[in-house]
Amino acid sequence: MPKPKTIKHVALLFAMQDEALPLIRRLELADKGYLSPPMPMRWYDGAVGRLRVDVIVMGADRRFGIDCIGTQPAAVATQLVLDKLDPDLLINAGTCGGFIKRGGTIGKVYLTGGPFYFHDRRIPLPPFEKYADGGWQLCDVEEWCGALGLEQGAVSSGNSLDMNDDDASRIEAVATVAKDMEAAAIAWVADQHDKPLCAVKAVTDLVDGEHPTHEEFERHLHTASDALSDTLVQFLNHLNEPTP
Ligand code: SAH
Repeated sequence: MPKPKTIKHVALLFAMQDEALPLIRRLELADKGYLSPPMPMRWYDGAVGRLRVDVIVMGADRRFGIDCIGTQPAAVATQLVLDKLDPDLLINAGTCGGFIKRGGTIGKVYLTGGPFYFHDRRIPLPPFEKYADGGWQLCDVEEWCGALGLEQGAVSSGNSLDMNDDDASRIEAVATVAKDMEAAAIAWVADQHDKPLCAVKAVTDLVDGEHPTHEEFERHLHTASDALSDTLVQFLNHLNEPTP
């Protein structure tokens, strides 16, 4: 597992503008425009003390004009970030579905280094099954979780906001605490580069709760994004502290 020794530079990847804006405003990051035209990813840059902080937001889809959520923009963005910025640590920040049965509550924030799984890649050919599921563990976050009072756990990604029965059983099999649409795609790229990755995910909706996911997501997006930015500021301040 890659373990960052000295961290002087981090890059945070967000899928949605609304998830990223509270942090961009609080850190007064400079708008650097597009990371790599004609791709839609937006780039913001600044610092927390001596720690250089880059924020990448997937940007607006050229055809549909909405945030580029999901796996392929996340993978492309990760490659571009590694080529152009080469941070010491990648952080996938965003919202997720949580699970009541694993202690999830609206606005709860997880900090995890994995494992990062896919739950919607079904390839029943022996050598490809494990590849399809992923399960990358890409950072040791034990000390950070202890210092910040945060929980870690498995993240599972797929390209749908809802889930079918097969997705549900894969999600259950790995005791997922955070269901999202980007982390595993970022993890695959990070792993090819042997680059540490952690995820900071705030719960917008409870997958095993009684409300439809899309309604809960819309209702709690802003609350969860504020909780996310509070935790990210604490985390970045912690990374900026000299290690004893
Ligand atoms: N309906 C929303 C679209 C949000 S898609 C809108 O109109 O703006 C969900 C985004 O939040 C993805 O980037 C994903 O990573 C995250 N997410 C939050 N809850 C999720 C869940 N239950 N399942 C999958 N992804 C979720």
